Amino acid sequence: MLLVRSHHLLLHRHHHTARLSPRFHRLLLRHPPPLPRAASAASRLRPPRMSSASSSNASSPAPSPPPPVVPKSKIRFCPSCGSPTKLAIPDGDEKMRAVCSSCGRVHYENPKMVVGCLVEHDNKVLLCRRKIEPAYGLWTLPAGYLEVGESAAEGASRETLEEACADVEILSPFAQLDIPLIGQSYIIFRARLKTPNFSPGPESLECALFTLDDIPFDSLAFSSIIVTLRMYLEDVKSGNIKFHYCTINKRIGTGASDLRSFDIDNHLAV
Ligand SMILES: [Zn+2]
Repeated sequence: MLLVRSHHLLLHRHHHTARLSPRFHRLLLRHPPPLPRAASAASRLRPPRMSSASSSNASSPAPSPPPPVVPKSKIRFCPSCGSPTKLAIPDGDEKMRAVCSSCGRVHYENPKMVVGCLVEHDNKVLLCRRKIEPAYGLWTLPAGYLEVGESAAEGASRETLEEACADVEILSPFAQLDIPLIGQSYIIFRARLKTPNFSPGPESLECALFTLDDIPFDSLAFSSIIVTLRMYLEDVKSGNIKFHYCTINKRIGTGASDLRSFDIDNHLAV
């Protein structure tokens, strides 16, 4: 029963992601959405495969290929029932997942959304110096994790209020930056101050407006902020502020603290 339920969840997931990825679309074609009978037929035809890394299933003589190298799941306990999870490749999947040892639910880890504001005022931009790790003491745009229940624009405004005590009006989306290696996707909005007031919130040492020539590129906190501000600078200088999408790929073998060790791929600007 548990395997059938996992299988059903998986098919549902493929169906859900098919719009985003041609690869998943192909998977979907191989695994059409389950009619109740089709799902049970598939279960009968295919031997159940829950190849746990810690499985002690000695009845399988055929050597199985090594599991793909993926980051270990951080989900150690089932969010549904609280039981410990185990790492396993669910039937029909190709990656290690956290699978509940009790209720059988598969728990996927997905990227997190970070939202923030590029606040413009008198041809300057508002930056905050971080009072928290990581990157304590370095400058950043006001930004943080999007909360459930709010839109990206609402989250960006909230973060700006929290980190810079600045009440802003969102003007337009400016950049979406994906960082696949660490599972983050940034959306940065252009915004303006509703009143010319700001001050450091509890997570900031100080907040300040910088002219574009004075942006402290050597003291910025994150690659995403470096990329955003570089793009903004180029746009302002060319007199044409665009919307940007790109992927930030950290170079393999460099430390997390080496902010300049990244490549920008798939840059699109409209
Ligand atoms: Zn569970």
